[in-house]
Amino acid sequence: EQRQRNRLRREPARTRDGVDIKLWANAETVADVSTAHALGAAGVGLYRTEFLFLGSRTLPDEEAQFRAYREVVLAMTGRMVTIRTLDLGADKADGTGLALRDEPNPALGLRGVRLSLVRQDLLRTQLRAIARASGYGPVRVLVPMVSSGEEMRAVRRILAEVLDAVRQEGHETAAELPVGAMIEVPAAALALPGFIDTCDFLSVGTNDLVQYLLAADRTHEALGELYTPLHPAVLKVLRGVVRVGQTHGKPVTVCGEIAADPALVPLLLALGLTELSLHPAMLLDVRHAVRGCDLGQLRAQASALLRARSRAGIERWLATRAAPAT
Ligand code: PEP
Ligand code: MG
Repeated sequence: EQRQRNRLRREPARTRDGVDIKLWANAETVADVSTAHALGAAGVGLYRTEFLFLGSRTLPDEEAQFRAYREVVLAMTGRMVTIRTLDLGADKADGTGLALRDEPNPALGLRGVRLSLVRQDLLRTQLRAIARASGYGPVRVLVPMVSSGEEMRAVRRILAEVLDAVRQEGHETAAELPVGAMIEVPAAALALPGFIDTCDFLSVGTNDLVQYLLAADRTHEALGELYTPLHPAVLKVLRGVVRVGQTHGKPVTVCGEIAADPALVPLLLALGLTELSLHPAMLLDVRHAVRGCDLGQLRAQASALLRARSRAGIERWLATRAAPAT
């Protein structure tokens, strides 16, 4: 077992028919980042910046944010780091007075990019810190809770201003900072062809996408199996997002918990995904699952998967395609 894991550390995330799948890490602590690096993650696919704001009574200033982002960038030694702008929301309460726990429907409230565009002072500070960190290694910016192209254009405009200002002050920055949208609001998934031009890349946040598609609170234990990615509607939306990305040559990652489940790797590959971002603790297991998959075969079986009419049907599809143990 241990020997197999050690071997896996050195092996690529390559399917049996020779296609490399990009495995990124979701990382927020220094420990996560160093694990991700040691296990050969392609980069950091999701750096949740909320944790800098959680548990502190004062907002982190530009310098504190810059130091935190630079630390991750340096630790990844040249691999891409995807920094998500602040996504405080119902499930991410804080002590800073920014979390909106008192809203009647906090999950549907002022969170993610919505809050950032109302509190542009916070967004500018954060983007300045990110821009400065980009002088130390490749960085891209991920925008949470996007529901329209206007939001993406607004963030891009502010980022362009911030980059200009930071450079004029003499800071090194990357020549380019790709900006991507989290696809986690169903409307964004459906309207994506109309604003894909505002995105350099996409990252599907299935935790929220499932919650909003199924009208099932992701934190509500009593809902049980009503909250599940194994719903035909979820697969259909995922497939659609991947298609739009492919058509426009924009990379698509899945960064929700679904990407950390080795049993679901065949399903994600069948839907056309070639990039996943997951907790570093699961990197080797997911890599192992990838290595058991035949991508050509799975894609040929995608239509059968998309024809499944229920969770049971999706589970039957998965059961017959379980990766063989090696
Ligand atoms: C998601 O919604 O799937 C996601 C990755 O973001 P978070 O869990 O931080 O909302
Ligand atoms: Mg989310």
